[in-house]
Amino acid sequence: MRVAVGAMSHETNTFADGTTGIESFATATGTDLPDADGVGRSLGGIVETLADADAEILPTAGASALPGPTVEREAFEWVRAEFRARLDGETVDGVCLDLHGSMSVEGEPDPEGALLASVREAVGPEVPVTAALDMHATVTERMVAHLDGVAGYRTAPHTDVEETGARAADLLLASLSGEASLALGWEPFPMLLAGERSESEAEPMRTLLERLREADETDGVYDANYFLGFPWADSPHAGCHALVTGDASASATVEETATDLAAAFWRRRDEFDFTTEAHDPAAALDEAAAADARPVVVADTGDIPGAGAGENATNLLAMLLERSDLGRPVVAVVADADSHATCRAAERGTAVSLSLGRAYPEGTPLDVSGTVLAHHDTDDARTALVSLDEGVDVVVADRRTNVHRDPAFLRRLGVDPSARRVVALKSGYLSPAWKDLAAKRLFALTRGETDQRLASLPYERVPRPCYPLDEDVTWSP
Ligand SMILES: [Zn+2]
Repeated sequence: MRVAVGAMSHETNTFADGTTGIESFATATGTDLPDADGVGRSLGGIVETLADADAEILPTAGASALPGPTVEREAFEWVRAEFRARLDGETVDGVCLDLHGSMSVEGEPDPEGALLASVREAVGPEVPVTAALDMHATVTERMVAHLDGVAGYRTAPHTDVEETGARAADLLLASLSGEASLALGWEPFPMLLAGERSESEAEPMRTLLERLREADETDGVYDANYFLGFPWADSPHAGCHALVTGDASASATVEETATDLAAAFWRRRDEFDFTTEAHDPAAALDEAAAADARPVVVADTGDIPGAGAGENATNLLAMLLERSDLGRPVVAVVADADSHATCRAAERGTAVSLSLGRAYPEGTPLDVSGTVLAHHDTDDARTALVSLDEGVDVVVADRRTNVHRDPAFLRRLGVDPSARRVVALKSGYLSPAWKDLAAKRLFALTRGETDQRLASLPYERVPRPCYPLDEDVTWSP
């Protein structure tokens, strides 16, 4: 039994400035793929499950990057060509892929569909193809046409990426053993939903995810999923989806399960509220000032690098600089290569003047001065801690990064986050580690490339009407 594996992951924010080139991706090809760091998320679970079943693995290619602006055509074509270079002329019994599912490429709003079509062309119509997808995947007709089985994350924050890979591999193995004949049931519905309203532990998501586990128990159903799409993409395929993998012999049940799941989600559409207390930025800082416990972790939700934003908006930082009732706040992270280079050139304890980041949407940098306190480099980014003269400490990075998802990162810069009254993070919903540490959590609903007020975004290609952009949207399966 010989199975091809591969990975392609990018969550594309089409509202973000610039483009994402191949240099932003961690990549690996051929035999380097299975053990490569950072090129796959569910790939480890896929490879391990296949290896446990004594499958021979044919590694193709992997490419993964931090969410960001529209992917350059050349980068996507490289990935597609690398997949094909390793599939053409080979005979495989199955294919199992690790895909995000919400990538947008210049001139190609459905790159996962295009990649799957290319894989299908290489392996032929009879070879089963399964995939692990992110919960925030945007499912398209072409993806459904070329996939036989799908498993999706059921947690947000995503803590089940490996298990999801194992589920996708198990679907493939069941098909290869002849135990199952895979079929998909797909029901898209016209809804945009941000992750900040749909964490898996919050209602109504928790109950809806419970329904998936119940659906899995239905005769003829193997793996039921919701895919929530990605709201910061102006995509003609935008929407939410129920996608169910079941047995071809029970195709009516599989279709009906998808329909029921979609209807159940739609019925509860008005209940998806922010999963964390949310305020406009000034009110969020007032709330933080009034809190007794520390630290209050304030998420700067308009500038989330984990959802593709530039991580360089200084709007919230500018407001922090104006206040004296928040102790000495720390801001992590502002991505600004020039400012980082200035800090890098300075010894610890040296004064620096910076033109930092940009105001949103004006684009003007914030002129600040301060003292460089520490440097810390990771595989992801080089960072410096600067103590600004106005009483705020800010971490400056040489590039966009999500390294601050782990509070231990701040400790390496000499900051004890538990000792601060306020920690402001370029984040949406917090990572589990920050949730453990925060005495209180707040969303500051800043303007930016991940603006949480979806109705204010300039959508042109999203099919309308769409909830919640339009009033009185009706839908039935
Ligand atoms: Zn996701």
